[in-house]
Formats: sequence, structure tokens, C-alpha cells
Amino acid sequence: MTQESSLLRLQEVDLQLIRLRSTLAAMPQQKKLRAIALAKKKLATQIKQIVGQRKDVEMELEDNEGEHERLLAATQRVHEEVNERVQGYRRIQDLEAQLTSLAKRQEKLEFNHIDIAERLERAQKAEKNARELGAKLLAEEKAQQESYESESAELQAQVNGLLTERASLVADISEEVMSRYDVAVKRFGGLAVESLSSNVPSTCRVKLQPAIFQKLVRGPRITECPYCHRILVVRDIGTEDIYE
Ligand SMILES: [Zn+2]
Repeated sequence: MTQESSLLRLQEVDLQLIRLRSTLAAMPQQKKLRAIALAKKKLATQIKQIVGQRKDVEMELEDNEGEHERLLAATQRVHEEVNERVQGYRRIQDLEAQLTSLAKRQEKLEFNHIDIAERLERAQKAEKNARELGAKLLAEEKAQQESYESESAELQAQVNGLLTERASLVADISEEVMSRYDVAVKRFGGLAVESLSSNVPSTCRVKLQPAIFQKLVRGPRITECPYCHRILVVRDIGTEDIYE
């Protein structure tokens, strides 16, 4: 195959690849997979928040229970002093006041403990629900992936065949022409190459003036269209037939 034919075929292969890939991307499984990926991302953020809240509440509970222990120990010490035959009415009054104050603080702590325990339970439940949803999303993702793979097998085989052909075409084309092609593909959205078999290029369809046409026919086989600036592959043309 000549470099010119390889280049024209390369463009066909690339356009077919674009079509196949967009067909694959439009398959319902792919849409669902994209939605699942989005949901997973959102859920991961939520779980991070929920876990943060749960840890905060756990620390609150730990503080509350630590304080509870300290108050119990303090109450115990006051009781011991009362039992050690304390001297003086004032001291006894003072100790009783301490016991009352400790009991009040203890009561308040216990009341808070109920609230904290309830909040912890809610946080744990939210975390459990979120993790269950995560597991469901993973299972759904796996099912969609499997369905996609089985239903797209034929299209994938076509893609693989085209990729193999593409590699052998690229091997036939010089690096210089390939780099021009890569730039033109981006610029012209895939339609990078046109051919000249008459005095009208195949894609832009602008009729060439005789002088320009004659120059192109005598020049290199791979050149540039003077009008649209695509890569122009000049075919063997019987010039006499066109401009006489
Ligand atoms: Zn053109």
C-alpha cells in the first residue's frame, strides 16, 4: 500500500473508531455506570462526614463517662471522710454540701449521657445505611459492567480489529506526515484528509483554478489544500481531460 492510500484508509479507520466508541458510550449500561460512579463519589463524601460525626459523639460519650468515674471517686472520698468521725459541725455541713453538689453534677451527667447515647445510635444507624447503600452500588456496578461486556463484545471486537489495522497503517506512514495528520485531525474534527481525483477536492469541494490545479498535479502526492488547508492526497489524474 502506498503512503497516500494508507493515509486515506487511516482516516476511514479513525472515523469508524469514533463512531464505534460513541455507540459504545451511548449504550444504556454505560449511562448507568456513569450514574453509579457519580453516586459512589457522593456517597463517599457522605460517609466521610457521617464517620466524622460518629467519632465526635464517641469522644463526647467517653468524656461523659470519664467525668462520671471522677465524680463517683470524689463522692466516695467524701463518704469516707464522713465515716471517719469528723470533728466539728461546720466541717460536717461542708461535707454534706459537697455531697449535694456532687449528686447534682452526677444527675446532669446522666441526663446528658442519655442524649449522647441517642445521638450515637443515630450516627451509627446512618453509617450502617450508607455502607449498605455503598455495597448495593458496588453490586449494581458489577452487574452493569458484566452486561455491558457481554452486549458490547461484537463492537469491541470491531474496535480491536480496527486498532490492529491502524497500527499497520501508521507503520506505512512517515513520522512527518503522521504529525501533520494528528494536528489536522484536531483542527478539522476527524476529517483531516481529502483527496483530489479531479479539479475538485473531495471534502471542501472548492473547484481549483487551472494554474493551481496544474501545480498540485505536478507537486508531491501528499500536500495541503490551498482552500481549506486539509491534507490533500493527489491521485493520478488525467489532466488533459479536465483542463483543455
Ligand atoms: Zn480543501
